[in-house]
Amino acid sequence: MMQEGRPLDFMRARLQTLQEAQLYRRLRPELGSSEPWLERDGRRLLNLSSNNYLGLADHPALKAAARQVLERWGCGMGSSRLIAGSSALHAELEARLARFKGSESALVFNSGYVANLGIITALVGPGDLILSDALNHASIIDGCRLSRATCKVYPHADSAAVARLLAEARRNGHSGKTLVVTDSLFSMDGDVAPLEELVDLCRQHGALLLVDEAHATGCLGPGGRGLLADLDEEVRAYEGLIAVGTLSKALGSFGAFVVGPALLTDYLINVARPFIFTTALPPPVVAASLAALTLLEEQPMLVERLQANAAYLRQGLQALGFNTLASSTHIVPVLVGEASQALEMAARLQEAGVLAVAIRPPTVPAGMARIRASVMAVHTRSDLDFALEAFERVGRELRLL
Ligand code: PMP
Repeated sequence: MMQEGRPLDFMRARLQTLQEAQLYRRLRPELGSSEPWLERDGRRLLNLSSNNYLGLADHPALKAAARQVLERWGCGMGSSRLIAGSSALHAELEARLARFKGSESALVFNSGYVANLGIITALVGPGDLILSDALNHASIIDGCRLSRATCKVYPHADSAAVARLLAEARRNGHSGKTLVVTDSLFSMDGDVAPLEELVDLCRQHGALLLVDEAHATGCLGPGGRGLLADLDEEVRAYEGLIAVGTLSKALGSFGAFVVGPALLTDYLINVARPFIFTTALPPPVVAASLAALTLLEEQPMLVERLQANAAYLRQGLQALGFNTLASSTHIVPVLVGEASQALEMAARLQEAGVLAVAIRPPTVPAGMARIRASVMAVHTRSDLDFALEAFERVGRELRLL
């Protein structure tokens, strides 16, 4: 039967439903910035909404490196890595990333989103089993869907549930591969995965473990090497352990990477379609990532400053009486509940000079809408006091305190 009405009516209907549920989103170029403070219409706004955690995105060393390479190599690579797009710079970045992460090998992807898509679909397929944390990032969820493996979602950070599901698969004679996948630091809750237990379980069951360190890279672990770097050498030596990180957040640049055995990167170069069928990252972006790694190695105090700021804001919000869920890091959620109230809180915070956006379903579960505050190493104590005063005032107005 022919559809009645105009061809794009389904779009009008969907957008109207989103608007009615307070879940409609729009782009706001006037607020786009990775700086710690934004100047807009003569007003200053404290930025608590950027993943530029170390403030490196406009660091003079990154800009100088990108500028120099821009002059010599130009703006784009013009082909994929496997055709003519794999420059010495790309190879140098991969060697440096492997060294930084203490791994045998690294492979760069064009973003964290496509890295997860490419890696998961290369690791598992129909007949295989994925166990995925309930709060994993959308790119992991989409990778699982695209892989067509059976995907079981386990309760957030619940390693006992993972143990049960692995034992169940064994009892049922599951003969395919098994992949356990988790964020290391959860992007909307600011809490961390039980990594040591997950590695142990995967080792016992011969399962693969994919850990997404997008928000931990440059921020947590020794020198910002991520949470896996906190584990004993012997735990980390498990062959089935694969880690992803992004260059787009704390490292202030763009792109992502996977680290693991050379066998893994060799395999992905040959099998991961989102690696194979896309143009290589532009040279200035690669140069900026290299400069960020150098800075991190030379200035580990950047990471310490981020952590000190994180503890100050997190503890300050908790002392005011806000529910910051299980956050233990530089990502601090302030639970509000309903999407409409979270939007109201974000609007009032902005009035008060603080940019901290509302996070609503489907990014977080229904009834768990929140303000997500992320701290930067370049925020000062007085910046954070300013934020705490604004949160207190708005929290009282909205009767959250
Ligand atoms: N993984 C996680 C956990 C993320 O939070 C994000 C981005 N928010 C990504 C992957 C995607 O990274 P990118 O922005 O580099 O595509």
